[in-house]
Amino acid sequence: MTKKKRIVSGMRPTGALHLGNYHGALKNWINMQDDYDCFFFVADWHALTSDYENPSYIKEFSRKMMIDWLGAGLSPEKSTLFIQSHIPQHAELFLLLSMITPVPWLERNPTYKEQIAELQNKDLSTFGFLGYPILQAADIIIYKAEGVPVGVDQSPHIEITREIARRFNYLYKPVFPEPATILTESAKILGTDRRKMSKSYDNAIFLSDPPEAIRKKVATMITDPQRIKKSDPGDPDVCNVYAFHQMYSSPNLTEAVNRECRTAAIGCVECKKKMAESLIEGLAPIREATEYYHAHPQIVDDIIDRGNKAAAAQAGQTLDEVRAALKI
Ligand code: SF4
Repeated sequence: MTKKKRIVSGMRPTGALHLGNYHGALKNWINMQDDYDCFFFVADWHALTSDYENPSYIKEFSRKMMIDWLGAGLSPEKSTLFIQSHIPQHAELFLLLSMITPVPWLERNPTYKEQIAELQNKDLSTFGFLGYPILQAADIIIYKAEGVPVGVDQSPHIEITREIARRFNYLYKPVFPEPATILTESAKILGTDRRKMSKSYDNAIFLSDPPEAIRKKVATMITDPQRIKKSDPGDPDVCNVYAFHQMYSSPNLTEAVNRECRTAAIGCVECKKKMAESLIEGLAPIREATEYYHAHPQIVDDIIDRGNKAAAAQAGQTLDEVRAALKI
């Protein structure tokens, strides 16, 4: 049997996950579990890079996110699931890598400039924020990852990680593989108001939302903006509700909605009701599983503990090699 390739990926703790998180990344992780040796972590130190003024939510959000991961189908039997801050070796490697990373590499990081411009209500002129790609590199190469699953927009980060690994290998000893970018497809999910789905826009449908909350949210969804009256024919191709039908409804229902929308044979209120029921049914197994984990905190503690131990063992081995390469 050939050895599975190792991949590493993390997610900042945002608390309960919404459908945008699920379709954007988590579903890909779940699908990769059988084919790769997966290390998935809650990136709680990364949350500090922009939220250092208010870290009180991080612990609770980390746990909630881990429960949603488990409920959605990440399996501790298949993947190593852990919390970044429980593995202090990441911090040691971050420190050592920061000694060899030129500052201009960090300053040219496109996300750095974008975020500074976007988050003007936060003072991001900190070393932690500038240096987060080094922490990210440490997170990845400490497990000797051969690949990192990312969307197209994140590939510059992996490029910096490769450059840092290459520089270390060149200066001291070849300890690290250069991780490849594994580009993953992800469905673009819009929020109920047709903007990007985000907790901060208050337009998100969460994986753990109870049926009544889903019905209410779906009822407020913006549809084809050109369709004013029920007698106006609609265009499902521009309608967010239809995009959800395509993901959650049966092919028969989806096809019927498409046809009946174009001929004004179905109204948006009825169409949304049907979609809400499909969504509720589709999310039921996840909701039931997350409820189970919320009701059994000890099981969650054990899973996290096991994952942390496995990750720390691997990280410790790599750091032994790093210290030997540096001769310190
Ligand atoms: S009938 Fe359905 S698909 Fe057509 S515009 Fe209304 S909500 Fe969208």
